[in-house]
Amino acid sequence: MTQRTKILLIYTGGTIGMVKDYETGVLKPFRFEKIKERLPELSQLDSDIEHFSFDPPIDSSDMNISHWERIAKSIEENYQEYDGFVVLHGSDTMGYSASALSFMLENLSKPVIFTGSQLPIGDLRTDARENLITSIRLASLKENEQPVIKEVCLYFEYKLYRGNRTTKIDAENFQAFDSPNYPTLAESGVHLKVHDEFLYKKERQEPLRIFTKFDPNVAFLKIFPNITQPILDGILNLPNLKGVVMETFGSGNAPTCQWFLESIEKAIKKGVVVVNITQCMRGFVLPNKYEAGSHFENIGVINGKDITSEAAITKLMYLLGKNIDSKSLKIKYEKEVQGEIS
Ligand code: ASP
Repeated sequence: MTQRTKILLIYTGGTIGMVKDYETGVLKPFRFEKIKERLPELSQLDSDIEHFSFDPPIDSSDMNISHWERIAKSIEENYQEYDGFVVLHGSDTMGYSASALSFMLENLSKPVIFTGSQLPIGDLRTDARENLITSIRLASLKENEQPVIKEVCLYFEYKLYRGNRTTKIDAENFQAFDSPNYPTLAESGVHLKVHDEFLYKKERQEPLRIFTKFDPNVAFLKIFPNITQPILDGILNLPNLKGVVMETFGSGNAPTCQWFLESIEKAIKKGVVVVNITQCMRGFVLPNKYEAGSHFENIGVINGKDITSEAAITKLMYLLGKNIDSKSLKIKYEKEVQGEIS
């Protein structure tokens, strides 16, 4: 006989819990209790489901560090009592939140699964039903009484991904996410197929601890052909700036002119942390492949390898929040913390 599991749903908002205001045609959040009414199937699962709800629920465009902290705290406070956690979240910034939570929840050894939908739960053609039910099933999986999944994941349209490897790729189709540089962890077909070899396996010696002191003084710097020195310097000299995720071309290349490198070097000397990631969807930063990327290593730019933008910026907030010197930060950044980088 399968043992019943206890799952906590953390409802933050997003399309999944929205209804249409028929006067204006605009989608608006509604109270979470209605989700259970809309999905009577929830009571057929082998799980006791309780919920914690953001009040009011929010569009994920409004997510910030304090919301991530609220999710982390609700997991920490209920950690012993529940077998797994399912976070209902708007899809727009879900990749950022899943990445942020993967860093915030240090020593996590239970499943935390983010999910949402492209169509509201009340829509006849909604994808919310499958996404939510399968997320609960995945969060309930056990082997020898131990959870099978012990990391932050994202489930969407029949696929389970490592949360901090995901990126939103589509605003129209149900398959809204991809994990361009790491394999899918599980697939939902006739059977629920878990790819055990790709799950996060590091054994936890210590209990769950949450780290919420993220530093928000960071920015993206997307390089483009014809970027000018005043624009580059303007960004690198923003007041309070502590870190920059620089999105470069191909395998980590940028303009080779003297002023470009000098501006980056000056910023690093001033104490700004600079991370190099690629604008490409797939692949790595390979600093020594072309001359155009070869100088970054010498001036102390961090190699972001194959990290996504979402994980890159949240990891930077996380490590800057640790208040460590720039050398240690570079070493920590270039190694995986939660399976986010190869
Ligand atoms: N704007 C919504 C959100 O991210 C979109 C969604 O839920 O898919 O909150």
